[in-house]
Amino acid sequence: MGQGSSTHCELCGHKVKYLFGVGAEHSSLVSVVDLIQKHSQEKVKEILNSYQVHSSKYSHSLFECPFCDTAHNRFYLKLDYGNKQTFETQFRCGDCRASLIPATKSADRYFCRKCGEKTLKQDCEKEWN
Ligand SMILES: [Zn+2]
Ligand SMILES: [Zn+2]
Repeated sequence: MGQGSSTHCELCGHKVKYLFGVGAEHSSLVSVVDLIQKHSQEKVKEILNSYQVHSSKYSHSLFECPFCDTAHNRFYLKLDYGNKQTFETQFRCGDCRASLIPATKSADRYFCRKCGEKTLKQDCEKEWN
């Protein structure tokens, strides 16, 4: 089951929702293609159609921009396929275009993307399907 949470900024009130894990309706590989960032969808479809996929890992995950110190919620996918080939989603920060890395802290420990202050507060977590 997936998990949801959100943060709000105590200074400017900016609210951000986060999803983690995978919902019940996305329990198969084919059903998650739509969740992948647009420019990777063709590549993933090609892999699913043309190769044998040995293992797959995917979930909504939290990433961070190491330069802006901001949190980014992305749908992560990794496929091992064909002859020891690997596909892994790559993400860039929408603000500075740096490559995102897996988050090293919780979502409320980053700078607010709206006002740029470190005044985020975590709201309640809840389950989602
Ligand atoms: Zn950035
Ligand atoms: Zn703010």
